[in-house]
Amino acid sequence: MDSIKGKFHITNFLPCLVSSRRSDVLMMTPWFAPIVWDGTYNIDILNAHFQQRNVCIGLTVFAIKKYTVFVQTFIETAEKYFMVGHKVNYYVFTDRVTDIPIMELAEGRQMRVLRVPAYQRWQDVSMRRMEMLRDYSYQQFRGEVDYLVCVDVDMRFSDEVGVEILSDLFGTLHPGMCGAKREHYTYERNPQSEAYIPFDEGDFYYAGGYFGGNIEEIYKLTNFCHNAMMADKDKNIEAIWHDESYLNKYFLYHKPTKVLSPEYLWDNGFGIPKFLKRQRFVAVPKNHNEIRN
Ligand code: UDP
Ligand code: MN
Repeated sequence: MDSIKGKFHITNFLPCLVSSRRSDVLMMTPWFAPIVWDGTYNIDILNAHFQQRNVCIGLTVFAIKKYTVFVQTFIETAEKYFMVGHKVNYYVFTDRVTDIPIMELAEGRQMRVLRVPAYQRWQDVSMRRMEMLRDYSYQQFRGEVDYLVCVDVDMRFSDEVGVEILSDLFGTLHPGMCGAKREHYTYERNPQSEAYIPFDEGDFYYAGGYFGGNIEEIYKLTNFCHNAMMADKDKNIEAIWHDESYLNKYFLYHKPTKVLSPEYLWDNGFGIPKFLKRQRFVAVPKNHNEIRN
């Protein structure tokens, strides 16, 4: 661990008070949370700051049934790009423990494989992540890591994702909803659902496949989402985009303290718009029918 300590040094970077570093994108939410884009932060200052606190970051991922095929690339690319130089615990939730490759990890990084049940419907697999994250946050994560980063597994890192993302509670802008008008956000619109958001409410459309924060905040978020899903299930309701819909409901009334730009969750199917200077974490193309059944 010592080779990790003292790796980062404060620089003499001087911020300019009278010009912002990006003028083409929104850099702050109306509730004063930073929106993280390339060119808006100084990574040396942040690295030194988080290293001083000796933070450990948990990266959680679910690989249930056939999705175990994504694990190798996910971890390999995370080793190259995710929180390099900091302490990282990978938590791989799976029903197929023996399908998870044993991989060599850099110093200060470890992988825990957590055996969990598989649900039959892919919608349930996706939604039940909330319950499992809640339970493990309470039982395990709070004693082991300072922050959790909870993401989809059908992804690869292709550029740096560092401590600039860390905050008490953060969400990520959905790559498919960047320029969309609020009334076109695909929130749940059924007033009977716990995920319901009226057409004249909502700030951003957040992606279900990338959120995080400290353990207490993630416990509260996942507990809310799971309970809301269970309440809907009792009414025979399932929100349009499953866990993502409930996550959007939570973020509407519990504002994230940081918002990640779509650099952090991109899908090349959307092309590469001019404002997107980096693609840090991109979807691996998949055959939905084949992989989910
Ligand atoms: N997932 C899984 N096994 C499944 C279905 C889903 O492990 O059979 C997990 C996996 O982590 C996946 C996430 O649930 O990344 C969300 O599902 P998916 O990526 O298929 O949703 P999409 O990104 O296509 O909306
Ligand atoms: Mn996915």
